[in-house]
Amino acid sequence: MLVRALKPPFAVAGEMWFTEDLSFSLNFTESVLMAADLKNIISIRDFDRDGLLEVLEKAHVVEQDLPAGLLAGYVLGVMFIEPSTRTRLSFASAMVRLGGEVLDFGDPARSSLQKGESLSDTVKTLAGYCDVMAIRHPWEGVARHSAQIAGIPVINAGDGSNQHPTQTFLDLYTIQKTCGGLDGLRVGFIGDLRYSRTVHSLVEALSFFDDELCFVSPGALRVPEHLLDEIKQRGVDYQEYDTPDEILSELDVLYCTRIQEERFADKLEYEQVKTCYRIDKELIKKCGAKETLKIMHPLPRVDELSADIDDTPHAVYFEQAKNGVPVRQALLAMVLGKL
Ligand code: ASP
Ligand code: ASP
Repeated sequence: MLVRALKPPFAVAGEMWFTEDLSFSLNFTESVLMAADLKNIISIRDFDRDGLLEVLEKAHVVEQDLPAGLLAGYVLGVMFIEPSTRTRLSFASAMVRLGGEVLDFGDPARSSLQKGESLSDTVKTLAGYCDVMAIRHPWEGVARHSAQIAGIPVINAGDGSNQHPTQTFLDLYTIQKTCGGLDGLRVGFIGDLRYSRTVHSLVEALSFFDDELCFVSPGALRVPEHLLDEIKQRGVDYQEYDTPDEILSELDVLYCTRIQEERFADKLEYEQVKTCYRIDKELIKKCGAKETLKIMHPLPRVDELSADIDDTPHAVYFEQAKNGVPVRQALLAMVLGKL
């Protein structure tokens, strides 16, 4: 099957470094993997309900009883061709706390990508220096391609607006811990539902659970049709809304996202939607949100989520970011066949 979009319809810093033609054909995993068979972590589409739960279970085990030294002697290569704070650092923290080492590719501008080296050559080279690799790239499909040529396990740390599977595992883990489970919830998503990869991955994952999904966005930032078709086929109960007021009082979880400025082909379009929503204490009160409502955000936030929420019991986003460590520890150990 051909990957959905080979190149983003926008120019991003870093794109100029890649000279090769990426119009390769990708073989998507034909059958869903049980987590125990994990070789790479590329897409939430590669998992089913049991596979998702198995990873979460292992993350709980790791968090409760850290198997220090489990990854001693192993090296994680980290190649991020897009900015990141949490994913990059929590991968590093996860590896180091398990006794492993981290080899960070660093700023792409200081690498030979700058001289015109191809992405494939770069990936093959880095693969010779480490045992597992985490890759973030602005083009959709790069993680899958890298997994096919690296010869070592590859973990997708975000590919364009497509997928961010490790974020999804920590999002599920956070929901499980703070809501007591993953079924029977009404989960709202607000903001940039068109370009946010964390939303796309999480929606796919939640489609395996018995939840109602509520999508709040301006018309221009709706969930992509192909994703709606996919969850429709799985019988997921979902609704689309223009404003949070219509639904906020009924939600158990509200997942906020930043408007993904870097993904817009047309900056004018971005300007029109950049301040479309702002979740703050006043709105939460006005709409009569449940006391137990959990507000999540993959971070970074810009203006869409007020800091006045931080000291309320609704805020779970820093806990969510922290959960990236046990979840990534479990995933690293699993792809290295240690858990
Ligand atoms: N959750 C984001 C990430 O995946 C946060 C960040 O980029 O700093 O990296
Ligand atoms: N950090 C998340 C990501 O890498 C969310 C964001 O950037 O808004 O997708």
